[in-house]
Amino acid sequence: MNQLRWDPTLGEWVAYATHRQDRTFLPPAEYCPLDPTEPGGFPTEVPRESYDIVVFENKFPSFTPDAPEADGEGSALTPAAPGRGVCEVVLYSEDHYSTLATMPEGRIRNLVHVWADRYEELGALDFVEYVFIFENKGDAIGVTLHHPHGQIYAYPFVPPRPKKELEAARSHRTETGTCLHCDLLAEELDDGRRVVAEGEHFVAFVPFYAHFPYEAHVYARRCAPSIADLDAAERRDLAGVLKRLLVGYDELFGFSLPYMMVMHQAPTDGGDHAGLAHFHVEFYPPNRTADKLKYLAGSETGAGAYVVDVLPEETAKRLREAVEGAGR
Ligand SMILES: [Zn+2]
Ligand SMILES: [Zn+2]
Ligand SMILES: [Zn+2]
Repeated sequence: MNQLRWDPTLGEWVAYATHRQDRTFLPPAEYCPLDPTEPGGFPTEVPRESYDIVVFENKFPSFTPDAPEADGEGSALTPAAPGRGVCEVVLYSEDHYSTLATMPEGRIRNLVHVWADRYEELGALDFVEYVFIFENKGDAIGVTLHHPHGQIYAYPFVPPRPKKELEAARSHRTETGTCLHCDLLAEELDDGRRVVAEGEHFVAFVPFYAHFPYEAHVYARRCAPSIADLDAAERRDLAGVLKRLLVGYDELFGFSLPYMMVMHQAPTDGGDHAGLAHFHVEFYPPNRTADKLKYLAGSETGAGAYVVDVLPEETAKRLREAVEGAGR
């Protein structure tokens, strides 16, 4: 059952996906459902002996295209709605032990094309207002499958965080006539202390206001609203800057760094988002140090106020050194 319920105190939807509890699938030990299917072997999600990049619909989706009407549920104050949407899984490689950081740059480039393609195709569905491309990586993030993969949620609404960002961009443009993200990027480049890696078309930096110690944002230099708006040279450069940042992340503490990776871009709700949405990728690694994690506790979860114990200038310096060290 997929249902949305409105929280009028925060002005946001909560999605319920009760079938996610019914995962009865009990694979044999050592079995990875995301590996290719070996001839005569246990069938995986991919009925082929080998593959390059694969996208398929999540079997236990948070949203489905055919979610039932929420008949009789909710009230005028707390409405309910069908949890209509699409959830996809993107397998980055058939190699179980690879990660985005260890993959050849050419593969990341192909992935950028796949992400752009999914953004366009899912965004064209009439009930999809926002295509959210993301990856959860590592045990610290609660990942159950270690095979390199990301996810795409095509939401029937613009989710709260991108919405807040778009509203901030709108106020900024009303005041100054310019794009908030273009102005932020210009300030970061001008200051330079938090810049971690620069490409011809993309820049990675730890933002002045990072919520996580090693949070990094990867901004398009040009004000492109979405990944689908990037031209061939920009796509190639995005892959290059992502690769450099990710290799630096792994270099930082000497192990494959867990993170959440998310993409913020234009909603697909039919509105005009030029000059408001500016394509960028955000990384939130949970590590404060090699063995200490930042938890979202009372202040972060209950008050929405992040407390960070190190300045972005310091973490950016360490991360930049790791990126540069790994490149030598
Ligand atoms: Zn695998
Ligand atoms: Zn911009
Ligand atoms: Zn953002």
